Amino acid sequence: MKAISVLGSTGSIGTQTLDIAEEFPNHFKVVALTAGRNLPLLVEQVQKHTPEVVALADESLIPELEERLKTIKAKSPEITLPVLIGGPDGLNTAASWDTADLVVTGIVGCAGLLPTLSAIKAGKDLALANKETLIAAGPVVIPELKRSGSQLLPADSEHSAIFQCLQGTPWAETARLSTGEKTPGLRRIQLTASGGAFREWPREDLIKATVKDATSHPNWSMGKKITVDSATLMNKGLEVIEAHYLFGIDFDHIEIVIHPQSIIHSMVELSDSSVLAQLGWPDMRLPILYCLSWPNRLETPWKRLNLKEIGQLSFSEPDTKKYPCMELAYSAGRTSGTMPAVLNAANEEAVAQFLENKIHFLDIPKLIDSACERHKADLNTSPTLDEIVSVDNWARHAVREQVNKQAITN
Ligand code: NAD
Ligand code: MG
Repeated sequence: MKAISVLGSTGSIGTQTLDIAEEFPNHFKVVALTAGRNLPLLVEQVQKHTPEVVALADESLIPELEERLKTIKAKSPEITLPVLIGGPDGLNTAASWDTADLVVTGIVGCAGLLPTLSAIKAGKDLALANKETLIAAGPVVIPELKRSGSQLLPADSEHSAIFQCLQGTPWAETARLSTGEKTPGLRRIQLTASGGAFREWPREDLIKATVKDATSHPNWSMGKKITVDSATLMNKGLEVIEAHYLFGIDFDHIEIVIHPQSIIHSMVELSDSSVLAQLGWPDMRLPILYCLSWPNRLETPWKRLNLKEIGQLSFSEPDTKKYPCMELAYSAGRTSGTMPAVLNAANEEAVAQFLENKIHFLDIPKLIDSACERHKADLNTSPTLDEIVSVDNWARHAVREQVNKQAITN
């Protein structure tokens, strides 16, 4: 029985992780949950999974949660209520909860950074969904992983595919994920991308893109922020940096391939030029389950892949003019140091502004580019955690300021 903590339990990754725990009660026991503001769903989750601890990002909601749980206890006295904690310290405590073996990081954005570091410092293994943490704070997270010996398992479908392809290669025997060491035998990674919400739109039509258009993903059902990131292809750019950190491969050997069917989740090319791919329906439960069961596999009744039903898989070159965010991410990744943190924070803020209808879809890359350009003069090549948090704050502020002054330029 593996004891798991789920950070961001009310989100897309969190709810799918809990579905898996429910489906495999003899394999997984949920000991800790953290959530933002969705109390009705959280209460349902507590009833079903009876965790030992629950942490709320917003401390002021604890009395309301307490009341709701008291009502549940009155109806079902056999339920043991969890310890309730809140605020940043509460999230860190839940993330490093003593009885947990593995922590699923389903918080969205850099808000996941400190809880993830707490989990690593406590020596917990991680199922990493919250890519923003690794991208912004790679220079701090990687040494911390080396020190603690925590195993980092990728829950992002592309990185799970790569991880699965590398099982049984010399890489799996000689390298651990995220030690930053060069990967023996791995020549190239091909990250597949569905193409996002606007893949059928001509570039000149993007001027008309609305929030509703950008938050409808053709293949995957995910949280709003990552769905917009998929529409700009920044998600793929972030995943390039994520792959660089996870597999110790340089940026020249990570390619993006548009693959609209999302059946091949990514590919690796080995030194003898053999290419390995992992295939499956676009269903996030698969990579999450693999993190939970690794190095074993569990039997599932889930829909099996039928290539005859699909008929055709297609691939094409991504359009860098239509999607400038990819190049911005490659460039920030190559610059390294604090630049990926600026890229990530500027993107988070620009996407938030877009979702509030304050800027246009096409302004997102402009705002990110501008923040990265301005940061060049202050680049820090080996930042501490405090310095990363500080540039993250600076970049968010810089984007907000530019939006407020209506000073977005091409
Ligand atoms: P989501 O918006 O559906 O859920 C986010 C969760 O984080 C919620 O539980 C929310 O309450 C919590 N949260 C939000 N802000 C918080 C804060 N400031 N402090 C603490 N908790 C907070 O997001 P999601 O789609 O589940 O994505 C979660 C992470 O997983 C992201 O980093 C995303 O890039 C990554 N990811 C998601 C998918 C997917 O299919 N959804 C796939 C790959 C990677
Ligand atoms: Mg992905």
